[in-house]
Amino acid sequence: MLKIENLHAEIDGKEILKGLSLTVNAGEVHAIMGPNGAGKSTLGYVLGGRPGYEVTAGSVTFNGIDLLELAPHERAAAGLFLGFQYPVEIPGVSNVQFLREALNAQRKGRGEGPLSGAEFLKVARAQAAAIGMDAEMLKRPVNVGFSGGEKKRNEMVQMGILNPKFAILDETDSGLDIDALRAVGDGINRIMRAPDKAVLLITHYQRLLDYVKPDVVHVLAGGRIVKTGGPELALELEAAGYAEVTA
Ligand code: ADP
Ligand code: MG
Ligand code: MG
Repeated sequence: MLKIENLHAEIDGKEILKGLSLTVNAGEVHAIMGPNGAGKSTLGYVLGGRPGYEVTAGSVTFNGIDLLELAPHERAAAGLFLGFQYPVEIPGVSNVQFLREALNAQRKGRGEGPLSGAEFLKVARAQAAAIGMDAEMLKRPVNVGFSGGEKKRNEMVQMGILNPKFAILDETDSGLDIDALRAVGDGINRIMRAPDKAVLLITHYQRLLDYVKPDVVHVLAGGRIVKTGGPELALELEAAGYAEVTA
């Protein structure tokens, strides 16, 4: 589904990804772990098409198409979802407005017509209920004043509405209490665990992986994948640390 080969990418002339290769098949959840500054978020940004990141070598194909040739909104329309480590706050724009715009933009990219306000609200309320978010939060400005847990639940609502084929979730577990962590884990499983979908789960810690069982675990260090294994690799890393396991 996603094939990354020898990816090199730089920001402000500094090379961050240095020959990263990775293949994710449909139906799989891959965890990417690694020390601070390894390039994990950079990988997410490059896949999402964030401006400022320059790919200098290598290729990324998504269901056989050249992902790097697509503009960010085309990547979203193709079914790619990127969850950020630090969700943006958008004062003055209600959550429901924002989410409806996002969904209708995605539908437009697929040649589908927009949902009406009433149709959309039904979808949004169902997603809020599924993750245990108060439907009142749909009316509030996007993420403004939301707690860490509320932002991440809100991200799950967004992901549920957009129903992507491939989700890249960057430290979606950071700063969550146990209940929020379980809710987010359940949300990822409910929305993304399907034979025709896949997930790249970027995380520092093993704890989210107790809820979302990865099929494959990679260690990213120094801009490359330096080790790949099964779920046991995450436990090994937690016990021994990156330096020891990748030595
Ligand atoms: P991780 O998510 O694994 O902690 P990042 O992808 O955020 O790592 O960062 C990788 C490296 O890129 C870090 O060394 C960071 O300092 C560097 N970096 C990020 N943004 C810039 C920038 N604008 N200019 C120069 N270096 C940057
Ligand atoms: Mg980091
Ligand atoms: Mg990061």
